[in-house]
Amino acid sequence: MEGCIFCRIVTKEVQSKIAYEDEDVVAFHDINPQAPIHVLIVPRKHIPSLNEASEGEQILLGKMLLVAQKLAKELGVAESGYRLVLNTNRGAGQSIFHIHLHLLGGRLFHWPPG
Ligand code: AMP
Ligand code: ZN
Repeated sequence: MEGCIFCRIVTKEVQSKIAYEDEDVVAFHDINPQAPIHVLIVPRKHIPSLNEASEGEQILLGKMLLVAQKLAKELGVAESGYRLVLNTNRGAGQSIFHIHLHLLGGRLFHWPPG
C-alpha cells in the first residue's frame, strides 16, 4: 500500500535490518528497540490491523507465530523467555497500520504491561 512504511520495508524501498524473510512474511529489527531483542514480524500483504484480518489469513497469521518461535530460538531467547505483542488500534499503542507482531526478549518483562 502506497505510503505504508512497512510495505516499503517489505519491498526493500526502505532499508531495514532483516532477520528473516520468506514468500509470505518479513521480520526486521525494530528501529527503536524496547528490549535487547526487538524484532517485528510482518506479512508481505498489507493488512492494517488484526481487526481487518479475515479467515483467509488464518494460515498467514499462524505463520507469523511460528516465525516468532523460530527467531526466538535463533536469537537465543527461547529458553529465557520472550514476549509477543500485537497492538491493535491507537488505544493499544498501534502507530503503524500494517499488522505486525513484536518479538521482545533479552530482559525481564513485567505483568500487567503498561
Ligand atoms: P506499533 O506501535 O505497535 O505500531 O509498533 C510500530 C513499531 O515500528 C515501533 O516499535 C517502531 O519503533 C517501529 N518502527 C517504525 N519505523 C520503523 C522502521 N523504519 N524500521 C524498523 N522499525 C520501525
Ligand atoms: Zn503496508
